[in-house]
Amino acid sequence: MQGKKDSSHPEAVWKQIWESFSIPKINFFFWALFHNKILTGDNLCRRNIAGPHRCVFCKKALETSVHIFIECEYAQKAWTSFLAGLNVSPPVHSSISDMFSSWKARYPYNIADKSLWHKVWIAAPKYVCWKLWLSRNEIVFNQKEMTAENVAEKAKKLLIETLNQSIARDSSLRDEERAWLGEYIPTSTPSSISRPNHKKIWQIRDTMENFQRWWKSQGKCTIFFDGASKGNPGRSGAGGVIYLPDGRKEEFSWGLGHKTNNQAEVLSLLKALQLARNENQKEILVFGDSELMIKSLLNKKGLKDPVLNKQILRVNRLMKDLSSVQIFHILRELNTEADSLANIGCNLEKNMISINAGEPNMAAIP
Ligand SMILES: [Zn+2]
Repeated sequence: MQGKKDSSHPEAVWKQIWESFSIPKINFFFWALFHNKILTGDNLCRRNIAGPHRCVFCKKALETSVHIFIECEYAQKAWTSFLAGLNVSPPVHSSISDMFSSWKARYPYNIADKSLWHKVWIAAPKYVCWKLWLSRNEIVFNQKEMTAENVAEKAKKLLIETLNQSIARDSSLRDEERAWLGEYIPTSTPSSISRPNHKKIWQIRDTMENFQRWWKSQGKCTIFFDGASKGNPGRSGAGGVIYLPDGRKEEFSWGLGHKTNNQAEVLSLLKALQLARNENQKEILVFGDSELMIKSLLNKKGLKDPVLNKQILRVNRLMKDLSSVQIFHILRELNTEADSLANIGCNLEKNMISINAGEPNMAAIP
């Protein structure tokens, strides 16, 4: 994006107006709005042009940009509806530039600079203002009224469409952020995932449907593992499911006795990998829901727990024997089978293991 840099605003704000994620016409619109160059009633008046001088939404106040985009009850409703689920109240600033300059700080959690949520959050107020403006124009030019909730819904829909078309990769979204994004489809493309590098963590946090579509297309031995501990440390169990390329599904539950949750997680992966190796599998996709544990596994460090460190070394040795092991972090909701098997493991005597090696049946693969 070419443009003269505005020296009256900090560079960060200028960058946020012209960031490349948002649809360019929205950035242009917002840039004009930021500099109060949108043709609202007050600006039309100044230019001696006839137009609505009263807010078309509430029909009470003079139509200024700060009124129709922030102060008006209609705008407030749109913001409230748009921000629902995010624990952020609607803006109450006395200028668009104040609102936008402090926008990032309004978010109650830290936002990493290049994260996906950063893109979404910075784009959000522009999209809301854009849809408010379109709604205002519909009333002025076509006499069509839209509810504020509808404005919010349209802004969010367009934002998610933008996101789906961008090549932005999902980083670490919070649960509320993921829920808010709803229909967002992360770009977890098979081509980038099939790199034979087991040291790389790919985060696949996806809808069940997209996830399964991707996973089936891989046609590899696939492991889901989980560990459970009643007390941490406490009575623990490991569990896992191994989907074999011939369609068989092996399940196991393993009683671990007194262990920590992390130890149960690692032992569960160890057992699952051993079972896969016994089936002569060498290329394996692994899914687990403990992000911390997966990171520790790949860094070969067990968070100051010497027992855990030893277990992690064993897993890493086993992974070296196999030609390709890729570990992915998935949401807990995608790991329910392994989770219940691990819970069964908690109720087994120490070192008792129950293995269920299924019959070949392609239909069994979800
Ligand atoms: Zn109004």
